[in-house]
Amino acid sequence: MINESKILKRPILFLILLLLIITEISAQQKYGIVIHGGAGTILKKNMTEEREAAYNDKLKEALEAGYNILENGGTSLDAVETAVRIMEDSPLFNAGKGAVLTEKGVAELDAAIMDGKNLMAGAIAGIRHVKNPISLARLVMEKSPHVMMIGEGAEEFGKEMKVEFVENEYFITKERWESYQRAIQREEERKKQEKSGTVGAAALDKNGNLAAATSTGGMMMKKFGRVGDVPIIGAGTYANNKTCAVSATGHGEYFIRLGVARDISDLMMYKNYSLSEAAKEVVIKKLGELGGTGGVISIDKDCNIAMPFNTSGMYRGYYLSDGKPVTKIYEDESK
Ligand code: ASP
Repeated sequence: MINESKILKRPILFLILLLLIITEISAQQKYGIVIHGGAGTILKKNMTEEREAAYNDKLKEALEAGYNILENGGTSLDAVETAVRIMEDSPLFNAGKGAVLTEKGVAELDAAIMDGKNLMAGAIAGIRHVKNPISLARLVMEKSPHVMMIGEGAEEFGKEMKVEFVENEYFITKERWESYQRAIQREEERKKQEKSGTVGAAALDKNGNLAAATSTGGMMMKKFGRVGDVPIIGAGTYANNKTCAVSATGHGEYFIRLGVARDISDLMMYKNYSLSEAAKEVVIKKLGELGGTGGVISIDKDCNIAMPFNTSGMYRGYYLSDGKPVTKIYEDESK
């Protein structure tokens, strides 16, 4: 005779076992966020203690906000957008408020975001009035059929999406205006000012999804209409769950020509490089050989991170599951 209670019990036991396995797997899933606030000629001798503390505090604030989202089971996309928004709102960085200026003395902003789960991406370029460009990039990804939108068209779309608008003056800090004035006067000064401050984030969430986001004002004194690497998917921003998430900072033209972020992912995908090997190969070797300067922050599907750069400093930090937030600025600190 068939024992009914056995038949009933088995599926229940099986379900309980399955649940236990799933709980165990998700408890083990590592997660974390890595961010940057730009690479360039950043020397301790040129830095005051207050300024150094201000950078470290803001990086920490962005890391903690992103990490809290991940810890509470939120998505890597939300984490990177949130971290980048915090840095866009800070006048310390060359993104959102505090962006560098074009040769015409206005702020023109670029940003991109990418979801490693499905390779969806959104990018905007030449934005003058949207307070948080990274959020507009995300809307392009999620609410439009496109990947990249520029200038007036992108802003019109932003209006439809009801994002926050500001006057262009909002982005221009006193410090950036003064360096713009100096840049006009002296070619040497202009070269010095072509530097750091772009912001970016890459994260891995508890579901194993990777995402990357980058936002910038571009290069000081850039030509009206110039677009850098940041909004070009595969150059300054890239994420793929099969490999890694990358956000770059540096002299954009070189990053575009090398397809830096995608190259790192491809070395992992097709040549089985580790994240650290791939990131070093591209940033230290290939970028260096071409004469480009800058760096990347990156995280892979196993929560390994790499943050190589070939300049004297890069504002950067990471916060990984069960760890503490760590921020660094100069070259001599271990990368
Ligand atoms: N990569 C940015 C650009 O070329 C600038 C930077 O990262 O500082 O637009």
